Amino acid sequence: MADPIIEIVNLEKKFRNKNTEVYALQGINLSIRKGDIFGIIGKSGAGKSTLVRCINMLERPTGGSVLFEGRDMCRLSTAELRKARRSMGMIFQQFNLLMQRTAEENVCFPLELAGVSREKARSRACELLELVGLADRIRSYPSQLSGGQKQRVAIARALATNPDVLLCDEATSALDPATTESILSLIKDINQRLGITAVIITHEMSVIEKICNQVAIISHGKIAETGAVEEVFFHPRTEEARQLVIPEALQNMPHERLYRIIFNGRSSFEPVIGNLVLACGCPVNIMFADTRDIGGTAFGQMVLQLPDDESVCRKIRDYAEAKGLMLEEMSHV
Ligand code: ADP
Repeated sequence: MADPIIEIVNLEKKFRNKNTEVYALQGINLSIRKGDIFGIIGKSGAGKSTLVRCINMLERPTGGSVLFEGRDMCRLSTAELRKARRSMGMIFQQFNLLMQRTAEENVCFPLELAGVSREKARSRACELLELVGLADRIRSYPSQLSGGQKQRVAIARALATNPDVLLCDEATSALDPATTESILSLIKDINQRLGITAVIITHEMSVIEKICNQVAIISHGKIAETGAVEEVFFHPRTEEARQLVIPEALQNMPHERLYRIIFNGRSSFEPVIGNLVLACGCPVNIMFADTRDIGGTAFGQMVLQLPDDESVCRKIRDYAEAKGLMLEEMSHV
């Protein structure tokens, strides 16, 4: 298992508004390993942006620590912090490009700040714009680019200083689904080809499922659940995780005798429900079904309502277990 690159230990961030104190983050503990695509998901106001801004010290924590490659970010000198920040590229929902500069000049900007010569900076910018698929838009201004192209420029700019980590704060939230898909693929490609660790802040489970290997669910400034994406999808342990993997439409339904069944590659080619009904001699009610793309593999989930009769329910549960099907009672939808 790879070493941690970012370790967050008992992190706290408290804001003072007039006479009241707001805890945006409390008791946050996370370990992000080298090479991870680590997703942090939560609703609006949960503390996601504050957390990512505490990682690169754009926001100073009021307690705890953030270790980056083993060094406490809170204890670095100004010069050391500047250097550490260069190792952490960041992209945003609104791209944050300089509108009076071309794509190339935007990518050159952090290199100019780092004292790189103009010539070297331009050649690096060309390389990076080619990497993100914009070789033909080097001289375009942001106003001449689509949202997806602007985010590609922002990614190239974030990569200019050869970072070890790419922090993505709602990077696809302003994009349509097809563009979102292409930007997520680009981030995954960068992670795999350049070995850059990515931290993905989002409110959308589909973003997590598409590219992340690890996920942390944040709610009211605290981590509700963390683990491998598949594990959280198959066995959500907390209410917050269940709300993310189980569709909203089901959450207000009466939930007696509701069971969630997950189909992986093997089971999705078999008439699982048909066989179950035939074997148990009793129909089941299909309340919901969808397919999720988790790390490139299609997983189906279905929510069934089993009959009133407990002996029939037991028969169905035994059948599922014998067939190796993942059938979980949804006791708290
Ligand atoms: P998210 O990114 O998940 O939407 P934020 O990190 O922006 O959440 O905010 C978390 C909480 O911290 C919210 O209650 C928000 O109002 C509060 N907060 C964020 N920034 C500030 C600030 N500068 N001053 C006061 N409160 C803030």
